[in-house]
Amino acid sequence: MKLNINFSVLEAAVSKMGGTSGQFTIKQDYKPRAPIDIQLGAGFEVDFNDIKFETGLASYEGRQVLLYIKDHSYGNKLEQAIEDGKSGNRYHVADCSKLEEMRKKGRLERYVVTNKLDGIFKISRGSTENRETQEGESKLQICQFCLDAINYQGFKNIPRGPKRQSFVATFNLSDFFDTYSSFFKFMPSGIADNQKESYSDDWKQVSNSVKEKYQFICQQCGVDLNSNKRLLQTHHKNGVKTDNTDVNLTPLCADCHRKQPFHTHLFVAHKDTKSINHLRQEQGLNTKENWRDIYLLADPGMFGVINMLESHHLPMPDVGLEVTNEQHEVVSELELAWPLKKVGVAVDKDSAVAASKVGWKVFSMRHALSQFDILSRKLR
Ligand SMILES: [Zn+2]
Ligand SMILES: [Zn+2]
Ligand SMILES: [Zn+2]
Repeated sequence: MKLNINFSVLEAAVSKMGGTSGQFTIKQDYKPRAPIDIQLGAGFEVDFNDIKFETGLASYEGRQVLLYIKDHSYGNKLEQAIEDGKSGNRYHVADCSKLEEMRKKGRLERYVVTNKLDGIFKISRGSTENRETQEGESKLQICQFCLDAINYQGFKNIPRGPKRQSFVATFNLSDFFDTYSSFFKFMPSGIADNQKESYSDDWKQVSNSVKEKYQFICQQCGVDLNSNKRLLQTHHKNGVKTDNTDVNLTPLCADCHRKQPFHTHLFVAHKDTKSINHLRQEQGLNTKENWRDIYLLADPGMFGVINMLESHHLPMPDVGLEVTNEQHEVVSELELAWPLKKVGVAVDKDSAVAASKVGWKVFSMRHALSQFDILSRKLR
C-alpha cells in the first residue's frame, strides 16, 4: 500500500512560523494480516468438504487449522465440557480414522476451523423449544486418532491407557503447528506477532556480532551461511532471551535452531530448510551415520515417518534429495528418498506429482504412515 499524503498545508504553516521543512521517511515493519487470518484466529464454521487434507494435516485456504464440532447439545454435555474439557468433543488436526468413519457414515457436520493456539474453544448448545442457545468455553482435548495417524512425537509407540492420556493432557498446540510449518504456504500470523517478546533493545547488534565472531557458521551442523546470512540465527543456550553474555550465545542455522528444545514459534519456511540442505550438501555436510543424523537433517514434519522407519529397521533415507529428469534438470525435491529404489516421501503435492512423472513412487507424510506396509515392502 502506498500512501500519498499532501503535507503542503503543514509546510506552509511551518514556513509561516519561520521554520524549514525537512525530509522524512516513514519506516514500518507492519505486515498486513489477510482477513482470512483474522477470521481463523477467532474460528468459524465451514463445510467439512472445504477442509483439505492433502498432506494428511487439516488445512483451510493454505493455512494449517484444527477443527471441532461446536455444538454440545445432547445431555448435559455443555455444562460438563465447560467444567472439564475431557468431557467435550475432541478437536482434530489430521485425516484420522474417526473422521474417516464419520465420512463413511455420511455424518459430516459443520466444523469450526481455527488456528487459535491456546487450546480454549467456544462451544455451544443450540436452542430448543424451552431453552435458548447457550455458549461457553472449554479446554477441549486433541483427538488421539489424529496423533496416531501422523505418529506425532512417536505417539504410535505409546501404549494405550494412562500414558497416552498424559501425553494428550500436556499436548501443546504451538509446538504442534511449529512442527509442520513447512507443510503450509502460509504461517499463522498470530504467532509471527508474538515473536518479538522480551529481547533486549540492542539485540540486533549483539546478534550480528555473534554471527560475525563465528564467521557465519552454524555451530551445530557446521553449515557455512556466508552466502545466505539471513538463514543464520543467534540462539540463547539457557533459554533466557535477556541473557546476552558471550557464553550464552551461539549462532545456529534456522533448521538447527528450530530443533532446539523448547523452541516453539520458530516457523521456518520449507524453501529455507531446502536452501540450508543444499548448502550442507555442497559443503559435504550431509553425511548420515545413524538415525540421529537423519533427525538432525530432516524437516520436523517428517519425524513421525522417520520414527516408524527406524523402529522397523528399514534402510536410512537420503534427506532433501533433488530428483532430475533425463535432461538432468531438477524437477522435484523429496524430503526423504531412497534413490536406488526410486521411492520417496514428499512434503508437498507438487513435488510428489513431479517426481512420479519421472518414475518415482512418492508418498505423502500421511500415506507413508497409513500405507506403511506398502512403503516398507518397497524398501526391503
Ligand atoms: Zn481425529
Ligand atoms: Zn545448522
Ligand atoms: Zn534459540
